[in-house]
Amino acid sequence: MIKRIKYIINVEVLGKLLLLIRSKLEKLRLKTKGKLKKSNIFGPPIISSAEMKNLMSQHYLKGMYTTKKVAWVTSGAPIEFLLALDYYLFYPENHAALCGARKLSTELIEDSEEGLYPQDICSYAKVNLGWILKNKDPISKLPKPDLILACTNICQTVLYWYQVLADIYKIPLIVIDTPFVYDTINNDQLMYVKRQLNDSIPIMEKVSGKGLSEKRLREVLSYSREAVALWLKILMTAKHRPSPISAFDTFIHMGPIVNLRGERRTVLYYQRLLSELEYRVKNNIGAIRNEEIRLLWDNLPIWFMLREISTFLAKMNTNIIAATFSYAWGELAHLIDENRPLDSISSIYSQVLLNRSPLSKFEVLKKLTKELEVDGIILHSNRSCKPYSLGQIDQRNCIVSELSLPAFLIEADQADSRDFNFNQANMRLEAFIEEIKERKWRSKAQ
Ligand code: SF4
Repeated sequence: MIKRIKYIINVEVLGKLLLLIRSKLEKLRLKTKGKLKKSNIFGPPIISSAEMKNLMSQHYLKGMYTTKKVAWVTSGAPIEFLLALDYYLFYPENHAALCGARKLSTELIEDSEEGLYPQDICSYAKVNLGWILKNKDPISKLPKPDLILACTNICQTVLYWYQVLADIYKIPLIVIDTPFVYDTINNDQLMYVKRQLNDSIPIMEKVSGKGLSEKRLREVLSYSREAVALWLKILMTAKHRPSPISAFDTFIHMGPIVNLRGERRTVLYYQRLLSELEYRVKNNIGAIRNEEIRLLWDNLPIWFMLREISTFLAKMNTNIIAATFSYAWGELAHLIDENRPLDSISSIYSQVLLNRSPLSKFEVLKKLTKELEVDGIILHSNRSCKPYSLGQIDQRNCIVSELSLPAFLIEADQADSRDFNFNQANMRLEAFIEEIKERKWRSKAQ
């Protein structure tokens, strides 16, 4: 009862009011910034960003005071069952990314290494484990889990990382193992995943103390479908010249599709974001003022360098207009069917980008390159995320030989800033952009 009262006061009354005021002020700030800085290298800011921040802050605030059962889940986990059972969902990977974007991750990584863990494992895992070992709250107080759900469709790291979490908190761990899809998914693979999902439902029900309603599951899945389809449309506004959005914007605006898919508020938010971007398309408002070069980004972002890299590129009239990482959250929209929940969930979550062959990833690069008419590709060789970085050298060679496009491999890490030399990376990036400009100039002259 006391917990419930605290929740109402802190979240429903005070939190809502303060976040609403903050969001209004932020909107005003963004509008003014867009009007004042005509000479800025960036285009006017996306005003919906204020609402997105509000949505995500609300989510984290709810987590601090929640009275619901809490599940910690991997980023590609089939969360629709948990949502239908009214769990509060927390994504350690997203929290680690947030720490990275706020330049708070490296300290937590060092904390985890000091405690136990080697430098080689994924920095997201180390941010999370560092936070637990040292009991630090760099962003907000995180809700303790009652259940852990890990899906191996993104990597094997999560299998061991989430096992450690389940041991620390002494709570049930559900693992959904998804066979790697080399070519096309077959029936045996689908049945294998479906059986595991079926077996996991009673555990989820037992921890939540509730029974799964098929009607509610369908509703959640239909919100997932709508949100994912809208997300894809949002990303595809980048076809326009100039692109109204940058990959850096998509890294920020993907917060709801990762953390809050399956929810109505996400659908409503993406509808508004899409209409703002359509307005920008209609009025030729670009993410940068002078879009001369359009690039594609592969792999996760370098979270602690978002502002620095985007500014450096914008000064060279270059925009990274899209990323395979953001696209991975939209490309499977057509597979979601709320009328066949179990089949549909088994199929989508088995076929996420990281669970498919490097060849299939190359096909995605090819498709985006063609549809978005980019001038070159930057491949982030990410020390943390081995499954994403696997085969990138071959992919770079294929981009150059098959697509006749320049490709650039940048070595870094998504959240660990220790071995990243910004000046060195800039020098190489500058040479890469000059090469593209030269190619464009030569092809025009011919
Ligand atoms: S290794 Fe890659 S997929 Fe796995 S948790 Fe780390 S970033 Fe995510």
